[in-house]
Amino acid sequence: MHPLVAAAPLPPTASRFAGVAASPVREILALTARPDVISFAGGLPAPELFDVPGLRSAYDRVLTDSPGRALQYSTTEGDADLRSAVAERLTVRGLPTEADDLVITTGSQQALTLMATALLEPGAVVLVEDPCYLAALQTFGFAGARVVPVPTDDDGIIPAALEEIAGRERVTMLYLIPTFQNPTGRTLPGSRRAAVAEAAARHGFWIVEDDPYGELRYDGDPVQSVAFLPAAADRTVLLGSFSKVMAPGLRLGHLRAPAALRRSCVIAKQAADLHTSTIDQAAAARYLRDSDLDAHIGTMRTVYRERRDALLAGLPAALPVGSRWNRPEGGMFVWVNLPEGYDATELLTTAVGHRVAYVPGAPFYSGAPDKGAVRLSFTTHSPEEIGEGLLRLARAFA
Ligand code: PMP
Repeated sequence: MHPLVAAAPLPPTASRFAGVAASPVREILALTARPDVISFAGGLPAPELFDVPGLRSAYDRVLTDSPGRALQYSTTEGDADLRSAVAERLTVRGLPTEADDLVITTGSQQALTLMATALLEPGAVVLVEDPCYLAALQTFGFAGARVVPVPTDDDGIIPAALEEIAGRERVTMLYLIPTFQNPTGRTLPGSRRAAVAEAAARHGFWIVEDDPYGELRYDGDPVQSVAFLPAAADRTVLLGSFSKVMAPGLRLGHLRAPAALRRSCVIAKQAADLHTSTIDQAAAARYLRDSDLDAHIGTMRTVYRERRDALLAGLPAALPVGSRWNRPEGGMFVWVNLPEGYDATELLTTAVGHRVAYVPGAPFYSGAPDKGAVRLSFTTHSPEEIGEGLLRLARAFA
C-alpha cells in the first residue's frame, strides 16, 4: 500500500457463505491425523489396497501410446473410451446405458455442483435424508436452496413422511444415497425405492441418486437402482464414482442423466473446469481394459467385510449399555446411537485424549440432531487395530 493512499475496506465474501457452515468438528478431527490415534473418523478407502502396479502401467501405456491425446485439452462430456466402459459396467449391473447417456465428472462431488447449477434457483426446495452427506448439504447451501429434511428410520427415508412433505412443498429435487448411505450405512429397500419413484412422478420432482458405495457389498443381494424404476426413469440422475473402488485421488466420477438435463450439466461443467483431467480419464479407461476391476473390488470386499465384522464384534463391549447400532451389508460406515444423555460431540475430545477418534453424527442432520449419534468408519484399520481402538473407545465412554 502506498503511504499516501488511505485504504478502503475490501468487499466482503459473498453472502452465499452466510448459510454454509464449516463442520464444527474439523479442528478436533485435524488431531486425528496423529499416527498414535486409531481413527474411525475418516471416510477413506484403505490405501494399501490401491492397485498401484495396475494404475502405474495404465498411465505408462497411455503416455507411451497416445501422449498427444492424453496431455491435450479434450471434450467436456469426457473420454469416449471411459464413457463406453462405464456404460458397459452399468448395463451389466442391470441399468441399460449408452456412452452418450454419461458425463464424466471431477469426482461425484462435482456432479452435485453441476446438478445444483442446472436445477436450483435460490429458495428452491431440496429434500434430503436426515441425516445426510455433509458436502452435499454444503453444495445445496451455496446454491441458495432451502434444504428440507425427510425423516428416516433404520431402512432410510420414510415414504409416508416424503409423501406428506411433497404434498405441502414445491419440491425441485430429492437427493438420495439409497445404498450404504453416508453417514448411516443404511440401504433403502426395494419397496421404498418404488414408493420414492412414484412420489417423484406424482409430485413432479427430480431424484438425484448418489451411489459411490453400491459396489462395496459384503453380503445380501443387490437392490435395484432407483434410476432403473420405470416410474421415475425420466427424472432420475444417477451419480457414480471411481473414488471408492479405484482411488479417490483420481477425482473421477460420472453422471447419467436424461438428455436435456445432461446438456445443461455439460454447459455448467464447461464453466467450472472445461473438462476432467484428460490423462486421468485415459488412464482409468486403459485400466478398465487391461486390468480386472471386478477382481480388485472382490479383494476390497473381502478385506472390508473382515474389518466391518471386527468392528461389529467389538461394539457390544465398547459402547455404553443402551446404545443402538446397525449392521450394514456394505459400504464404509456403521451408525451408532448412544443412550439418552450422551453427547458425542463433547465426548470426542475425551476420545482423542484416549487416542481414538470418530465423527459425531450431529452435523449430518438438517433437522433436529441426535446428539448421541456417531459415525464409525471401519475401512482403514486392520481387525487388530479396530479391536484396540474399541478398547480405547470403551475407556473414553466409561
Ligand atoms: N457422495 C457421497 C455420498 C460421498 O460419501 C462422497 C465422498 N465421500 C461423495 C459423493 C464424493 O465423492 P467423490 O467426489 O470422491 O466421487
